[in-house]
Amino acid sequence: MSSRTEPTATEEAAAPEAAPPAPAGRTPSGCAITIEGVSKTYAADAGPVHALTPTDLEVAPGEFVVLLGPSGCGKTTLLRMLAGLEVPTEGSVRMGDRTLFAPGALAPQRDALGSLGFVFQAPTLMPWRRIGRNIELPLEGKGPRRRERRERAALMAEKVGLEDFLRHYPRQLSGGMQQRAAIARALVHDPDVLLMDEPFGALDAMTRDQMNILLQQLWMDTGKTVVLVTHSISEAVFLADRIVLLSPRPGRVKDVVEIDFPRPRPLSVSADPEFGEIVARLRAQLGEHE
Ligand code: ADP
Ligand code: MG
Repeated sequence: MSSRTEPTATEEAAAPEAAPPAPAGRTPSGCAITIEGVSKTYAADAGPVHALTPTDLEVAPGEFVVLLGPSGCGKTTLLRMLAGLEVPTEGSVRMGDRTLFAPGALAPQRDALGSLGFVFQAPTLMPWRRIGRNIELPLEGKGPRRRERRERAALMAEKVGLEDFLRHYPRQLSGGMQQRAAIARALVHDPDVLLMDEPFGALDAMTRDQMNILLQQLWMDTGKTVVLVTHSISEAVFLADRIVLLSPRPGRVKDVVEIDFPRPRPLSVSADPEFGEIVARLRAQLGEHE
């Protein structure tokens, strides 16, 4: 395990994180993400809200990066900027070789957004559509004809263990199963990047463990670039290649911790003393209890 200690402001400005190598042993299919000097200040009635201070971050193709930080530190803001849903106040964002936001841009460059999957904390399924039809949603109007859409949705449903529920409605599924459907929907169009905002935050601990195993497997099988937001320290250590620890608002990168337990990681990795040490250190840095 290696950890970068907190850099000084000048170091941070002068030496943005070098692009880490792609994780060994897997063929990445995702693209790199480059964030340079990205900050966000919201204009609110009561005055400006500084959500994120200028931040640099490089995510390698196929890397699994977890953004970890206390509530309100700008995690969702950062993720929404990567999805083109929020415009940075300063800085630039690149997806692979395409520029999503140039410095000073007023809107995202839509063609850089072609290939993205987003999973929110709530499954956000359409209640009037069956699970299969929910999963195939990103393919609609994109080229694949109806039959191909059905086939691809069925294949994704199988990968998340929902093959027997294609004809069910969301209300007939548990919260964990609905979130599986949301993950299948986010991956059905084979995106380069998967963005996840506290996707398992609403689930009970046991279901969450199962979802972490499933997500690790999907990621290993597909080689996607994943950026996942959580405020669960143990979830971060279990899933991440790299944890980016953010300070309380306005968010800034406080530490970057590489996690190199071999994959696939079993749930029992949390009993490893080294796992416990990393959790304890992160907890101390966050100054909170999980
Ligand atoms: P996190 O996801 O880490 O909990 P957010 O990115 O949601 O944090 O929010 C960071 C800060 O920005 C918070 O103080 C929040 O209240 C503020 N914020 C988020 N969205 C808006 C908005 N649309 N307008 C004004 N302030 C906002
Ligand atoms: Mg959030």
